[in-house]
Amino acid sequence: MEKKTIGFIGLGIMGYPMLGHLIKGGYPAICYDIVPAALERGVALGAKPAASAKDLAAQVDVVISMVPDSPDVEAAYLGENGVLAGVRPGTLLIDMSTISPITAQKVAKAAAEKGCPMLDAPVSGGDVGAREARLSIMVGGDPDVFEQALPIFQLLGKATYCGPSGAGQVVKACNQIQVALNFIGMAEALVLGAKAGVDPEIILRVLSAGYAQTRVMDVRGPRILKGDYAPGFRARLHHKDLNIIREAARAYGASLPASALAHELFTAMIANGWGELDHSAVVKVIEKLSNCELPVKKD
Ligand code: NAD
Repeated sequence: MEKKTIGFIGLGIMGYPMLGHLIKGGYPAICYDIVPAALERGVALGAKPAASAKDLAAQVDVVISMVPDSPDVEAAYLGENGVLAGVRPGTLLIDMSTISPITAQKVAKAAAEKGCPMLDAPVSGGDVGAREARLSIMVGGDPDVFEQALPIFQLLGKATYCGPSGAGQVVKACNQIQVALNFIGMAEALVLGAKAGVDPEIILRVLSAGYAQTRVMDVRGPRILKGDYAPGFRARLHHKDLNIIREAARAYGASLPASALAHELFTAMIANGWGELDHSAVVKVIEKLSNCELPVKKD
């Protein structure tokens, strides 16, 4: 059977390798990015360039987007030159960006009015997961549409059906709460230890061996002890996700006091010029509050 043509919008850290996997998987592709250099990288992978999201949508069976934030998804789908201005009824739309569940539902509703089913399908696994096609994909929308999209998701990682439109984004927000709070807990543990004069390496070793163990601590703890905050996942993107979490909490009437605190601490990170560092750098804010610096051990 002939493969469907995919239109891919947003060829950044995540979108570029994802498009590569889809092309390798045999899908003819058309791509679009507002930044010409990014668009050229997609063309180098073997995709045809489109002049706009509208132009792209008119030529494809499936649209996938991977852009930064809710306003970018609104621009890409609802804008004058956006997907919905050009799309044919029946085209499958999949937004894989991390955005507000409220925006995801709004865009999916507008898509349905054009006769197009839409899934929200944010991911976790980071740039490494994108390059290695090992993303965890959290999907919201119609379950039959999810089944139709599975062959595409399987080229990118493992997809889980989470519920109706917006549910994928809700699960991603839950993921980002847990990760932010894990980082803050580890940061406070290390700073208390440093103030009391206990070797932070011992703290990490002991905590990792017991009930306090977390993946965040195992992966990032040793790098913090070396003063290594190269991203990974940039703090400003996690700040964006905490904005989404607060907006969702307001919309659904959930009281999330620890997430509100996490949001403030990430705001402080950005105010101190640390937004481009890895999100583990929230420890620098906790250090500053106690006027203390963790001892750094370089190799
Ligand atoms: P990025 O900034 O590297 O790439 C985004 C791309 O989208 C850019 O090339 C930009 O020019 C393009 N773009 C923006 N608005 C557009 C529009 N209206 N039309 C067409 N193109 C547009 O970002 P990224 O790191 O690839 O992240 C993309 C999404 O994936 C974000 O929502 C992010 O939170 C999420 N995410 C990222 C990671 C990660 O580790 N980087 C992990 C999980 C999820």
